[in-house]
Amino acid sequence: MTYLILVGAPGAGKGTQARLLVQELGLVHISTGDLFRYNLKNKTALGIEARTYMDKGELVPDAVTVAMVRDRLSQPDCEKGAILDGFPRTPVQADALTAMLDEWGVKIDMVPHIYVETGILVERLLKRAITEGRADDNEETIKTRMRIYKEQTQPLLDYYGERGLVVKINGDQSVEDVQKELIAAVKSIF
Ligand code: AMP
Repeated sequence: MTYLILVGAPGAGKGTQARLLVQELGLVHISTGDLFRYNLKNKTALGIEARTYMDKGELVPDAVTVAMVRDRLSQPDCEKGAILDGFPRTPVQADALTAMLDEWGVKIDMVPHIYVETGILVERLLKRAITEGRADDNEETIKTRMRIYKEQTQPLLDYYGERGLVVKINGDQSVEDVQKELIAAVKSIF
């Protein structure tokens, strides 16, 4: 069982790197943002609830998010472990994840932190708005998401740092070079 948590600000490249890492490690990629977007597209009750928060760049309530992740991690394809992308995002979610994994007798192996300077992130997100057309990649929402990342998600780096799990990955390189650094870090623990 291998559990990795990718931490990084919006636009740091977590999704891209997680998808590449899946091919390398044969683990399942779980992105809470993708799960919410899937539900939104299919107009499920969960999607409709999440939409009001996502449109503003705010976080979907912890209870809703945790229940969705528990459900996803319980699926048979997660039996070898998972790469978590965009979850946990708050200390409450981190505690819930720890409790969940304790219950299943498994632990988090590593928390790669993909770091990129804020100015570069905003530029990247505005570009992504044009290429991918994500509804929440507009200037107003980007500001909110960056603020929420700083206030609520960055404290997780202390939470996992105290447990010796955080490994810094320089996200301001080409996709291939970030991937090389990430794979080397992950492989060092096996
Ligand atoms: P992302 O694709 O990770 O940037 O997520 C897009 C949006 O989905 C976020 O701005 C939130 O509204 C919602 N979201 C994704 N992951 C979480 C999470 N762990 N907790 C709460 N909301 C989330």
